[in-house]
Amino acid sequence: MMPPPLTLAMLGGGQLGRFFVSAAHELGYRVWVLDPDAESPAGCIANRHLCAAYDAAAALDDIATHCAAATTEFENVPAATLAYLAERIPVRPSAQAVAVCQDRIAEKSFLRENGLPHGDFAIIHTEADIEAASARLFPGILKAARFGYDGKGQTIVESREAALAVFRAGAPCVLEQKLALDAEISVVLARGETGRTRAFPVAENQHLRGILDVSIVPARIEPRLASDAREIAECIAARLDYVGVLAVEFFVSQGRVLVNEMAPRPHNSGHYTLDACIASQYEQQVRTLCGLPLAEPDAHSASVMVNLLGGLWFRDGAANASEPDWAKLHAVPGLKLHLYGKRAARPGRKMGHFTVVGENPDAVLEAALTARRDIGIKDD
Ligand code: ADP
Ligand code: MG
Repeated sequence: MMPPPLTLAMLGGGQLGRFFVSAAHELGYRVWVLDPDAESPAGCIANRHLCAAYDAAAALDDIATHCAAATTEFENVPAATLAYLAERIPVRPSAQAVAVCQDRIAEKSFLRENGLPHGDFAIIHTEADIEAASARLFPGILKAARFGYDGKGQTIVESREAALAVFRAGAPCVLEQKLALDAEISVVLARGETGRTRAFPVAENQHLRGILDVSIVPARIEPRLASDAREIAECIAARLDYVGVLAVEFFVSQGRVLVNEMAPRPHNSGHYTLDACIASQYEQQVRTLCGLPLAEPDAHSASVMVNLLGGLWFRDGAANASEPDWAKLHAVPGLKLHLYGKRAARPGRKMGHFTVVGENPDAVLEAALTARRDIGIKDD
């Protein structure tokens, strides 16, 4: 067990890292953040911000010398960086587990090899792979194997010809059948070094233009589907020998749950745990990293989270950014606003979120959707 006030290292300085820093501070730890962006949201509030590339040897040596353990907030930290640090300090999750989650080909292959439910797909390295793909996969979605997020690196392909037209040699992809979705849900869990696992309540996720828009907890799905999802997520964590916080996204399609993708870190759809649980997904990340007992994951309230994207700063087609009228949100009972301190708003950029909590799920949903509309978020 690593007690405070030891120093922890966070690789990545986005909003997920920022919430980790806050949670670690709350428990008495110090945190160093590695991120090449001088204005990264987590770097700004860290005890120290190492403003360097993720493979900068000097920065990694500095971390290994001064930090008790390291973790990450995004899957694109080079697995080699995690492996390098792991020779000197505990790194959770492991480089191997992150490597599976950071590459769609490795991820899909892992699901297939372990008999875990997933949609039909083909691995695409060459045009010949598209020619050979089953006709069942069209209409489909061609997804770049690496570095995709928030719908980036994905193209809907109606036909084989369309897939051939957008495919670029040298950029490996997976081709997925485009599924009819009844719902999208996610499970965030924490797994400790002893294998003890605690899964948070299942979130129901609504996306707009490929980006998470609203998360509703508890998910409005059959209890059987929710327990299937939790069981599958726990199985994934066990098979990866995972230590840390893991998020698993699922599709609900034709009455069953199918794994969409995994994230080796806390997840946007788990932001609600900040306000609806006694210990958030970020506190669980600190606990798993430091070998502390895990918190019970039950939610004490129903909750609905709404993402605040940069487009909101350009209301009614304005050319210049202007700050939304936060007073409107602060005035809503049970609403908690979180802003990430990002200076420049850009359409699609995650700038903040709010969560409404309360006893009655229907009332909470209505309050959240009303607040969402009142602050100026449009559905189209
Ligand atoms: P990202 O890394 O951008 O989150 P995802 O693979 O989760 O990538 O895709 C983003 C969203 O696109 C999903 O949440 C879902 O709404 C839609 N989507 C992705 N794959 C499929 C699919 N095979 N069938 C139907 N919709 C999909
Ligand atoms: Mg996703």
